[in-house]
Amino acid sequence: MLLRPSDFSRRLLRWYDVAHRDLPWRVRGVHRAPYHVLVSEFMLQQTQVATVVPYFQRFMQRYATLAELAAADEQEVLRHWQGLGYYARARNLLRCARQVVREHNGELPPDAATLQNLAGIGRYTAGAISSIGFGKRVPILDANVTRVIRRLDKIEADPKDRNVQEQLWRRAEEILPRRRVGDFNSALMELGALICTPRSPDCLICPVRMHCQAFAAGIADRIPVQKKKARTPLLRRQTFCIRNGRRWLIQQRPPTGRWAGMWQFITRPAEGEAPLPVKITDPKLIGSVSHALTHRRYEFEVFACESARKASPKLPESMRWVSLVELENVPLPRPHVLIAKMLSAPAIRGK
Ligand code: SF4
Repeated sequence: MLLRPSDFSRRLLRWYDVAHRDLPWRVRGVHRAPYHVLVSEFMLQQTQVATVVPYFQRFMQRYATLAELAAADEQEVLRHWQGLGYYARARNLLRCARQVVREHNGELPPDAATLQNLAGIGRYTAGAISSIGFGKRVPILDANVTRVIRRLDKIEADPKDRNVQEQLWRRAEEILPRRRVGDFNSALMELGALICTPRSPDCLICPVRMHCQAFAAGIADRIPVQKKKARTPLLRRQTFCIRNGRRWLIQQRPPTGRWAGMWQFITRPAEGEAPLPVKITDPKLIGSVSHALTHRRYEFEVFACESARKASPKLPESMRWVSLVELENVPLPRPHVLIAKMLSAPAIRGK
């Protein structure tokens, strides 16, 4: 970084005071509530701010305090997380809240090292809670901050390399001001989100361009190197919405893995014709649903059909019959939310 760190922080904070976005987990003038920082940071992992805002607001209406969250049922928490994806975060957040109640009298500890012993909290999240929630002088390094510091210091080496990681953490610590550390860390992230973006950074309006070595060398858009995205594999599934009267058969997913513990309509790989749990009659193709995750894409072919036996057959514990109204209180992965909507169409619902 060119010039003195104190000039850098002064310029960055002056910009942040004017340009920052008003977000529901940001309250100006005081340290932000550590519980709000905790929830927002869990939600923001791998997820865009605009997507998180309504989820955060609904979550806070339902679980206004850490104690309320700790006392909640996991299925209900998953239901409130439904659609946000990466559901391991919701389960970890709940585990974390319970751990805080059990081990810290219900108060999040201010110290970053202690925070890192809590479920789902790594070095970055601990730094965010400690600095933004408690004003402690602790650095943070997420994807935005990593990019900003790499450009400021013209670090072209791979940031996944351990030595480079340590270099970046050291730098994030060195540039911390004595005061307003939480705002400073938020400002670094905000700069990365609004101006120092991955592609085409807006250097001409950047408040800290006079400190930036990549800008001075004219290579800002070469850090990081833009990689071509590899095409992700496509997995084909068949989903059978099996009806018995007004109720539909759903099954719970295994306790680990993708969408763990959530519920879905009966689904099997499109190839191989794995047996269904009940005999069906009259399957009709009613549509398809596509769903893209980071490393794979899914295509669900959706069939509506009737259970062949009108008396409910005995089912394992991981399956149950539910009405569409009851389904509204059951946590479903996003593709199955869309499938449930298909079943609400009058042509299917009214049969
Ligand atoms: Fe990022 Fe450009 Fe600002 Fe440097 S001058 S910090 S590359 S936006």
